[in-house]
Formats: sequence, C-alpha cells, structure tokens
Amino acid sequence: MTHKGNLLLVDDELNLLLSMEELLRLHGYQTTIAEGGQAALSLLDAQEFDLVILDLNMPRVSGHDVLRHIQDNQYNFTVIVVSGETSFEAVSEALKLGAYDYLRKPYAADGLLTTIGNAVSKAQLERHNLLIQKKLSDSEKLHRYIVEHSPDIIYMLDERGCFTYLNDRTKVLLGYDKNRLLGRPFSEIAHEDDMDQIDTLIHIDLSANSVNKVLRLRTADNSVRFMDFEALPVQLEAVSDLTAILPKQTNFKGVFGVARDVTERIKAEETISYQAYHDSLTSLPNRSLFEDRTNMAIVQAKRNKQMFALMFLDLDRFKLINDTLGHPLGDLMLQAIAQRLQACVREGDTLARFGGDEFTLLLPHIHGEADAILVAEKIKTALKAPFSIEGHELYTSVSIGIALYPRDGQDLRELITHADTAMYTIKQRGKNGYQLYQSEFDSTSPDRIIIENDLRRALDCEEFTLSYQPQVDVITGKMSGLEALVRWDHPKQGRLFPLEFIDIAEQSGMVVRLGKWVIEKAIQDWTTWANQGIHIERIAVNISPLQIAQPNFADDVIGLLASYSMPAGFLEIEITEGMLMNDASNATAKLRQLSEYGVNIAIDDFGTGYSSLSYLQKFPLRTLKIDRAFVNDIESKDVDAYLVNAIVSIAKGLNLELVAEGVETWAQLEYLKARGCDKVQGYLFSKAVDADEIEKLVRADSQSNQLIEV
Ligand code: C2E
Ligand code: MG
Ligand code: MG
Repeated sequence: MTHKGNLLLVDDELNLLLSMEELLRLHGYQTTIAEGGQAALSLLDAQEFDLVILDLNMPRVSGHDVLRHIQDNQYNFTVIVVSGETSFEAVSEALKLGAYDYLRKPYAADGLLTTIGNAVSKAQLERHNLLIQKKLSDSEKLHRYIVEHSPDIIYMLDERGCFTYLNDRTKVLLGYDKNRLLGRPFSEIAHEDDMDQIDTLIHIDLSANSVNKVLRLRTADNSVRFMDFEALPVQLEAVSDLTAILPKQTNFKGVFGVARDVTERIKAEETISYQAYHDSLTSLPNRSLFEDRTNMAIVQAKRNKQMFALMFLDLDRFKLINDTLGHPLGDLMLQAIAQRLQACVREGDTLARFGGDEFTLLLPHIHGEADAILVAEKIKTALKAPFSIEGHELYTSVSIGIALYPRDGQDLRELITHADTAMYTIKQRGKNGYQLYQSEFDSTSPDRIIIENDLRRALDCEEFTLSYQPQVDVITGKMSGLEALVRWDHPKQGRLFPLEFIDIAEQSGMVVRLGKWVIEKAIQDWTTWANQGIHIERIAVNISPLQIAQPNFADDVIGLLASYSMPAGFLEIEITEGMLMNDASNATAKLRQLSEYGVNIAIDDFGTGYSSLSYLQKFPLRTLKIDRAFVNDIESKDVDAYLVNAIVSIAKGLNLELVAEGVETWAQLEYLKARGCDKVQGYLFSKAVDADEIEKLVRADSQSNQLIEV
C-alpha cells in the first residue's frame, strides 16, 4: 500500500507516541518513533522524512535543541511542534527555529490530521520543486560545459553582425578574450581578402538550412587561421524561450554557428596539391601543371583569336654533368639553371620542369614569333656565364624548340611534339640555340625512339663504318691528315650521319662503346694503310665527353696504340671546349697523360662554345679547329670575319696549329691563308670518303704532289 508520507514522531512519553502512531497509521502514514530528543537526532542524521512531529519539553535534548540541530545542518525537514508548552517565548522560539506549525497538547485528532495533511503536501511539493531546480541547473551546467569545452568556436551574431555570444574556445583558437569581442562586429577579425564573403555568414535566409564556408580569421597575434563555418539563422519560433535571453529587439534575425579550425587540414591540402603540381627539386611547375596551363591557354587563345608560344628546352650534354660529378651536384646545377631560366620569363608565363634535363615554357601573351625569339635569346644569354657549384666552375647551354599556337599545332600533344622536333633539329645542328618549328621537319627527321633502340644492336651487327675527310696543308697543298667521321649504315633508314645519332648515343651512354670502336678502327685502318705503304701523317678522332669521363680512357688509348704498334704522334684526338670547361672527371690529367705519351690534342668546333679563352693555356693542346660556322660567314658577315682574325691570333700566341673546318670556296681559302691559318678541311677539297677511297686519294695526291692547287 502506498503511504501518504513518511513521518518521524518525537516525544519523551512512549504512550503518547504509540497512540499517535496508531492514529496516523490508520490514516495511511508511515511512521517512525523517537523516544526523546537524543533518539530523534540520530534518526534525523540518518534518514529522510516528509514531516517531523516534535515535542518541545523533553529531558536532556529538548525540542528546541532538535530544531537547532536541523537548522545548523541545513536539513530540509518540515517540523510541526505538538507540545503542552504554552509560553509565548517557547512557541515563538520554535517558530523562529524553523517550525512550520504549532499544535497544543492535548490535540484533537481532526486538527492534527488536517495540519499534518497540509504540511506533508507542502513539503512534498517543495521537495519536488527543489529536485526539478537541481535537475535544471545540472542540465544547464552540462550544456554550458559542452558548449564551453567544445573543440570548436560556438558563436552568436546579432543582425548587424556583432558578436552576442562566444564560447571559451575563442581564446584558445584565436587568442582573443571573448569579452573583447562581444558587441564587436565579426568583420573586425575577418581576413581582409575574405571581407566580401562574410555577408553570406551574417545574413542567412530564414528558410536556409545552414551556410558553410571556410574563411580566414586574423588571430590576436596577427597570424591567420582557416575556420570552417557552419552558420544557421536563429529561428525564434522554434526556441521561443530565447526571446527572454536575446537582446530586446522585436524582429531579431541573428545567426549562430560553429567555427572549426581547419588550418592544418588546408595547409596539408595545399602542400599536397603543391606537391602534385610542382617539381620537388626546382619548385617549378611540373609536367601536369604545365599541361593544364597549356590547355587553358589553348581555350583562351581560341576564344580571343590570339597566339601563344610553347618552348621545349633541353640542356646540352647535361647527362655528362650527372655522370661525371654525380647526381647531387647535378641536382644543384639543375636548381641553379632553373633559377636563371625563371629570371628570363615574365609573370603569367609558365616555366616547368618537364622531366630530367628538359624544361618547357609557355608564353601566353605574345604578338608574333619575334617575341618568342626574344625570350629564347634571353635564355641563351642567361646561361652563358659559368655556374659556380661547390667549387666547380660549370658551363651549360640549352637547345630550344619553339612551336606557336595555332600555326604549329592545335592541341597540347601536337604543340609539344613539334616544339620537341624543333629542339631536336637544333641538337643536330650542334646544340646551343633555338629553332622555330617548320612543317617540313616531320618527314626528314628519323624517329628518336627507333634510333635509340636500334643503336643497341648496331654495334654488335657491325653497322658502323668510318669515313675519312682529308685535311690539307695550306702552304704545300698536300694532304696533311685525315679526320675519322663515323657513319651508321642503318638497315632500314640507310646511311645515317653522326648528327642524327651521336646525341642519342650520348644520352643513352652507348657513345662510350661506340667511341672505343671508332678509336680502335681508326688505329687499325692507319696500321693497314701503313702496311700497304700508304703513309698518313695524322689521323684525327672525335671523342665524346662521356668517353673521357671513363676512368681508363687514357690507358685504353695507350693500350690500343701499343697493341697495333702505332706511334702515338700519328694520332690526334678532337675534343670540344665544353669538355674542358666542365672539367670534373680529371679530363685534364688524362689529356696530359696522353699528351706526354705523344698523342696530339685538338679542340674541335672552336669558337662556338664559350668566350673565355684563358683556360686554353692550362691544357696540353696542339691544334685549334675553327668551327665551320665562322668559315662559312667569312664572306658575308664582317663580325664573324673579325672573330676568325681573333682566333688566328690566339692560336699564334699560344703556338697552336690552326685547322679551318668547312672550307667550301676559294675565297674562304684565300682569306684563311692570308691570315696565317695552317691547314684546311672542307668540301672544296673533299668530302669524307670511305676508307677504301683513301688509297686513291693519297696516290693522286702524291702523283700531283698536291691534293689541290694552292
Ligand atoms: P666535326 O668533328 O666538326 O666534323 C666535321 C663535320 O663537318 C663533319 O660532319 C663533316 O662531314 C662536315 N664537313 C666537312 N667539311 C665540310 C664542308 O665543307 N661543308 C659542310 N657543310 N660540312 C663539312 P659529320 O661527319 O656529319 O660529323 C658531324 C659531327 O659529328 C662531327 O663534327 C663530330 O663532332 C661528330 N662526330 C663524327 N664522328 C664522330 C665520332 O666518331 N665520335 C664522336 N663522338 N663524334 C663524332
Ligand atoms: Mg671533329
Ligand atoms: Mg668540327
């Protein structure tokens, strides 16, 4: 049976207690009795009661003492005093001590029951209210805790965009004390570049669910954080209670929301996308980004009926630097080159590292090919000065192919292929220059890939041969030597000339084996001729830089000479200027060793490489070969004729023998002779011919005593 209340009856008279207990039980109350004040105190300390019926006059611990105990301990008991005590002081003291009511003994049962009934329901109501209040305050505490300790900023803005609420997280994430921001406009902490976006976060349509936006905020120490906002309009109908809390405005339209710090994520995303689109070594855009930009340039140029240029840049002989100095140094060199290239382009142009030693350049704003040529010239000049890398003075040059949109290609693929083709023709013509694409290129140049693949078996299949081009003494008019020039009799492509495959052989490293073969073959041919009584004064062989870089290069040559019993003085090796300038593989030491052994050293294509001439003294040189470009221009351009004069005087000053290459006309010969050039080589006398024709040439030579009339 459910009871109406739980009562404690306190009296020092047991009879009275028992009769009251019987009465109250009868009326549905649960009762506990305490005989005397002392017993009451122990029970009150231990249990909860809805009501205490208390006698005042008790020995030792009186009713007043019990009331005082209740008050002191802030117990929440409703107490009805039932006592024979009638003095005003005693009763008013009891009421002052918190008694709820007073009944006089002897009590009427009716009166007692009514008073108890009222008191119990009032006590129960109070208890209930208290419980609810506690629950409310607990839940408020919980919500506040959750809000204040949220990992995100929680905020509220009024309709003007000023903060009306901010949680404690604001301090942690942005460094501001929230009181400094309350009442201030949101715009005060927004990043200036995002200012135009904050309106969307402040004025949110009531019908909208929420607005999401990442904005940059300025922190108290003036750094920038990326915050991901989710903002919602305050729906007054939904939480009508809010009207009481919010500023007293009839049509309040504020927003509230959460702002999450996503700085790390965004930075990571930026890094990832940067990495995906940039070359890690040079920090230049990579191939993907270049292709994207080119595709964009195509769309734009098509729409605006404009043109643009795409350049393909390939460093000349870069592999050599890697192979001789090692990749770490090659990497440093690439970085330095990238820097110089970057300085040649304007904002809006895209310079990219396409791979290895290849760069591409997109010039979206040009008016004609002249603009592209200007940039190419600039690049060529920029790379001229030496690079100083970890104590090495290194030189490089670049071959540039240029394709123009829309003239040379309609899409990315076509433009890149054509720029590459143009670049390749520059490589074939001796590197270090630029070339605009021309449609007739395609049919003439053999496919690079095919050549590279075929090169591998060409050596084993003995598809190479040597041609020899005579060199003629200007004074005597007699043949003074031969230059060995390699030819490749390709089974499908027919005869290929060095400019069509040497570069590829160099890039694949095959040139080392090929070069070895060439030297041995030349020595062998010389010996064969010598045995037939044909005396060749000098036989010159072209050497690739990669060959010299081989540690055993000098020993190998000396070994070959010895095994064929050819005196070293009959051999000349031709090297290029660049090889000496980028001297990292002890080329100097090897050349000196060879020179001491008696081998002649010649600098080939002199004048095309580098303007600095002082280094010539450092090397054990015998011969300078003037590049045929200068010879070719003797009659036409004053400037180059000047250069020939300069080269002649340098050679004389250094006591070097001078050979002019590519002499095709009598006028050139006369000019060179007059300047004091010693020897000439060129179509005027003979092209390079196969070995078996040399015999005829030599015999004709000795018969007439002169290969040509001079
Ligand atoms: P190079 O050493 O400067 O050889 C001279 C080139 O000019 C030869 O071309 C020759 O045929 C050409 N030439 C000679 N006289 C005339 C002339 O009067 N007019 C014109 N227009 N050209 C003339 P080739 O044989 O095609 O060789 C090209 C280059 O290939 C050589 O230039 C040399 O650097 C390289 N090369 C040739 N053989 C070898 C080789 O065995 N090993 C290496 N590493 N390179 C070689
Ligand atoms: Mg040569
Ligand atoms: Mg030459």
